[in-house]
Amino acid sequence: MKTPKFVQRMFPKRVWTFPNSSLSANKIGNTIYLTFDDGPIPEITPWVLEELKKHHAGATFFCIGENLEKQPDLFRRIIVEGHSVGNHTFNHRNGWKTSTEEYIDNVLKAEEEMNKVHEARSTIVHPKYSPVRNNMKDGNEGGKREDIPKIKSEISDQRSSISNLFRPPYGKLTSRQSHILQQKGYKIIMWDVLSGDFDASISEDNCFRNVSENVKPGSIVVFHDSLKAEKKLRYVLPKVLEVISEKGWSCEKI
Ligand SMILES: [Zn+2]
Repeated sequence: MKTPKFVQRMFPKRVWTFPNSSLSANKIGNTIYLTFDDGPIPEITPWVLEELKKHHAGATFFCIGENLEKQPDLFRRIIVEGHSVGNHTFNHRNGWKTSTEEYIDNVLKAEEEMNKVHEARSTIVHPKYSPVRNNMKDGNEGGKREDIPKIKSEISDQRSSISNLFRPPYGKLTSRQSHILQQKGYKIIMWDVLSGDFDASISEDNCFRNVSENVKPGSIVVFHDSLKAEKKLRYVLPKVLEVISEKGWSCEKI
């Protein structure tokens, strides 16, 4: 499914597709931007990472704060494997049904969790990351990290984070919420192609065609690494990656 042009024009400051003047101009050419919302969860996210690896594809994962809190290793694995992460609120809030203050707090809570989990990489002993750890001088590294100022979102708009990408759950965001987040330095990443992988009323083949018939260089495509979408995603993602390879396009993170 394609996002209608008039909707894109209503919200020109949000990123719907590339090239877009609000992000770097060199991200054009034959590039597709695959995105995965609502994870990370152990049931499907590792599989997505394996599929992407097979095709040397980069992607962007818009994570829910409470999911990455439960799956810190999986969240770090996404980053270690070279993908981008983005904020999708702490517990999948609908902006239209949430007060601005509560909504912004929820986004910042997710960001805090993302940073905490990301920074814990250098302090938690984990066999998976031991090669990285061994190359670091633990004492110095720990000291340096403590010097990084903590996020003081309520005091200042200056943020220091592993990601400035934000995607509103359900695509629902009020103008005021959007404005505040942009002031804080977030890039609001929407999409031009929706796979519909979460939609129980469409077939796997329809879901595939939603993507294959609409995707073009510069497209931002939405999938979900969620239980709801799992069955369709397992069918559709390998096929979509094939189509993209056959056309000579490549997938990159945002
Ligand atoms: Zn979502």
